[in-house]
Amino acid sequence: SGYHKVLEENRKLYNQVQDLKGNIRVYCRVRPFLGAQPSHPSVVSSVEGGSLSIMIPPNSKLGKEGKKTFNFNKAFGSSSTQAEVFSDTQPLIRSVLDGYNVCIFAYGQTGSGKTYTMSGPDHLDDDTIGVNYRALGDLFFLSDQRKDTISYEISVQMLEIYNEQVRDLLAPEGSTKRLEIRNSSHNGINVPDAHLVPVSTTSDVITLMNLGHKNRAVGSTAMNDRSSRSHSCLTVHIQGKNLISGSTIRGSMHLVDLAGSERADKTEATGDRLKEAQHINKSLSALGDVIASLAQKNAHVPYRNSKLTQLLQDALGGQAKTLMFVHISPEPDALGETLSTLKFAERVSTVELGAARMNK
Ligand code: ADP
Repeated sequence: SGYHKVLEENRKLYNQVQDLKGNIRVYCRVRPFLGAQPSHPSVVSSVEGGSLSIMIPPNSKLGKEGKKTFNFNKAFGSSSTQAEVFSDTQPLIRSVLDGYNVCIFAYGQTGSGKTYTMSGPDHLDDDTIGVNYRALGDLFFLSDQRKDTISYEISVQMLEIYNEQVRDLLAPEGSTKRLEIRNSSHNGINVPDAHLVPVSTTSDVITLMNLGHKNRAVGSTAMNDRSSRSHSCLTVHIQGKNLISGSTIRGSMHLVDLAGSERADKTEATGDRLKEAQHINKSLSALGDVIASLAQKNAHVPYRNSKLTQLLQDALGGQAKTLMFVHISPEPDALGETLSTLKFAERVSTVELGAARMNK
């Protein structure tokens, strides 16, 4: 009927607007309960399309009792698979070969599933490998398909930002050297002293990721501790030479596993732990400020407030495409952190802005 046609048209228009300003996408993923039968129900009461609802219990200090709904570009429930998560990410990843800069973040408190989404569990298999491996595998596959017209070179860097210092995770012997981020007119943002390693197969990538993993543990007592208090960034550089026209395409992709977002003041940290926590809070709020200011199309974007946002400057804003995977835990104990994670996500998301415009 006419009415449905109008609705359909509106919907199309809305989707186009979403795509146009779709420089920032936010996906939310709920971790399943781990281990034995949980003794409490999940704090997540429903997940549908891009909506996710949280149930706030009676007499909670965290908010009014009842259902609170958050909207994202996409929400993944606790039974979502790695393949499902990847398939919604694939178009973004593929655009790197067309010369786009792409940035994918994993955000959330420690233990919420960031590393699971990006890399996978400790023991990887074809079903459980994460976005990083799938993304590289897909780039290899697609570049091979195009090899008669475009010759691609793919190389990777792996960096860690810990206490506002940048370190090379691909130094063969390990390195604690602190690296400079440069901004040159012809290369853009770059870290000239970090290893840039050509890769052409998934097994090359696995070897490098293992090296990076090993190097990340250097100088820390417990690996898990360190990885939850530093940001790690796998950067993929691609250069394609068109064999017919002779022109060159350059694209890049940053895959970032962020430090845990839990607030320092809650952990009553002191000394080194407090310093680490303050650095993390500072860089995550700098990231939030940059993305929020891009989402609001502000003229000034505060990239210079942290090493993280400086490093990623070329891949945030402009023609670049950003995806934030926000992770939450199902446990009632984590509800406070979960709500602050969702608030952060809402702040960097353009979904609500889009909906508000649509209603005008
Ligand atoms: P984070 O990186 O946020 O600290 P992890 O990715 O290490 O969290 O996840 C914490 C634990 O939960 C790990 O044992 C991980 O394998 C498991 N886990 C996380 N997400 C999932 C998931 N979607 N399915 C199954 N297990 C998961």
